[in-house]
Amino acid sequence: MVERPILPIGNTYLDAFVFLAFFVLLFFAGIALKNRKGIRLRLFVQATAFVFFVFIVHRCFCALRGTIFSFQDIGKNDLNVFNGLFIFVPLIAFTLMFGRIFCGWLCPLGFMQEAFFRNTFIKKFMLDPAPRLKWLRLLLSAAIFFAAIFLLFKFRPKTFFFVQNIAAFWGLVTIIFSVFFLLNQEADLKLKNLRYLLLFAWLVIITLGIFVTDPWCALFGNEIDYSSFVGLFAVLASAVIVPMAWCRYLCPLGAALSLVTKFSQVKIKRKKDLVISKKEARQVCYVQALDEKALDESSCLFCKRCVEAGISDIEEL
Ligand code: SF4
Ligand code: SF4
Repeated sequence: MVERPILPIGNTYLDAFVFLAFFVLLFFAGIALKNRKGIRLRLFVQATAFVFFVFIVHRCFCALRGTIFSFQDIGKNDLNVFNGLFIFVPLIAFTLMFGRIFCGWLCPLGFMQEAFFRNTFIKKFMLDPAPRLKWLRLLLSAAIFFAAIFLLFKFRPKTFFFVQNIAAFWGLVTIIFSVFFLLNQEADLKLKNLRYLLLFAWLVIITLGIFVTDPWCALFGNEIDYSSFVGLFAVLASAVIVPMAWCRYLCPLGAALSLVTKFSQVKIKRKKDLVISKKEARQVCYVQALDEKALDESSCLFCKRCVEAGISDIEEL
């Protein structure tokens, strides 16, 4: 782990190297997204981003909180403003150019959840429609929910219970949404639309000045607070039951990026008139952005798997 800035800005703790690495990885991912054979590089970009940001530099990735706090510092503390925006601005700029490539190609939390889907045994457990497996998934969800509640109460601080537990609560809601999905898979789209409401709630909480943590913090922060650790546990455990449940329903950053991606210059478009089965669609797309006939642009992570499978095309406006 790097303890000091590699390319310090002035004599401060701010490290321009993190910004450069982030920029280069996004650029590389954007080029690979547009290249016909670029999908082969996705795992490499994801693994590089994971190792670099989780094990080497530990840069806080909380783009939304940092951004709102930095807006409040404009005119007062330029360094804080830069610190808050230097992840968010390239993230928005690249999303406008290439869609959600951060989600599909760089995000370490997305990468960790996706890892379960790559495992043949877990993938079969998640997708198999057999009733006995559905009940097993529901039982597992209940076990994860109570384990998360247990951790929450076991390690809770003595003061400011709600404020200090927001990450854990968001993690618990991920499990609850996963249960709703297991009970009625057709409710997926409705649950996905709730992420905008949750994003709004998240932004209100930050604007009120509350220093929210989320499951990301357990990955990127130098100090692991227990609430974000409980949140991370809930998010990763849910991802064994419903593929990438956090990315589908709860992630505030993902919800914000899905609004921006409507204006992106690169689109992933489902091939017209190509009909596939529901099972085929679910085998290819982690987040169920694909179904038999359509592609839900707002849920798409731009992973390019459906392009590789011959179901969709990359289009530039
Ligand atoms: S939705 Fe959130 S957690 Fe998922 S890949 Fe995107 S930013 Fe990462
Ligand atoms: S629709 Fe295609 S590119 Fe988008 S998340 Fe699903 S598989 Fe990936």
